[in-house]
Amino acid sequence: MPVLVASDLDRTLIYSAAALALTMPDARAPRLLCVEVHESKPLSYMTETAAQLLTDLGDTAVFVPTTTRTRKQYQRINLPGPPPTYAICANGGHLLVDGVSDRDWHARVLARLADECAPLSEVQEHLLRTADPVWVRKHRVAEDLFAYLVVERELLREEWVKELAVWAENRGWTVSLQGRKIYAVPKPLTKSAAVREVARRTGADLTLAAGDSLLDADLLLAADQGWRPGHGELADADWTAPAISALPERGVLAGERILREFLRTVRSARSQ
Ligand SMILES: [Mg+2]
Repeated sequence: MPVLVASDLDRTLIYSAAALALTMPDARAPRLLCVEVHESKPLSYMTETAAQLLTDLGDTAVFVPTTTRTRKQYQRINLPGPPPTYAICANGGHLLVDGVSDRDWHARVLARLADECAPLSEVQEHLLRTADPVWVRKHRVAEDLFAYLVVERELLREEWVKELAVWAENRGWTVSLQGRKIYAVPKPLTKSAAVREVARRTGADLTLAAGDSLLDADLLLAADQGWRPGHGELADADWTAPAISALPERGVLAGERILREFLRTVRSARSQ
């Protein structure tokens, strides 16, 4: 029986320069591998050790990158290790099988959204009407499924985010603040639903997961065992659950630790 390892990417396995959180003297910093180039510039990194661990993991488990990124944003990431057979993009809206979106899965997601929550247009309109241009840099719609804003964190009123979360909750939507982005995502659009589908297709009987943000909470709760880093929305909220380990590491070193925990757990499961 294969072990399924479903992990968030940004600020869980891969880190922008601003999110590395290196605290040691420069001369002792770990060597970093750039795994994403955007507009001809390096954007995301993991440690070289983490890169080796991810390669080993890809050889021993079904590793499923599980991200809120759009397909296009995901496809410019160049992860070490064997190319994953399955990848989850758009917070579960697209299930890629050998790089191609599964049409049946996407149709099922659309049907659920139409049934269970307010339409994207209503949320978009609310964001355009209430978000202050003083701190909003960009309004974005991802894959016609959800919306996000790119904001200036220093100027953002935290009160506004709380008000938005309440407004969204009443319409079946969730709000998540991650770095410079505020996401508004339909509640039924979850990473965990897509991971369950991959578990069904692969026959996996053990699922491991990791993530740092509110949009990863359902993923962690659905897993048999999970880890979250010492930074991020979940850590800030002291979020925890019985099968979840809250790691002390922050930044890119948390990514390395998570991969070590995945690999150790996969190996011990396979030796039983
Ligand atoms: Mg993340």
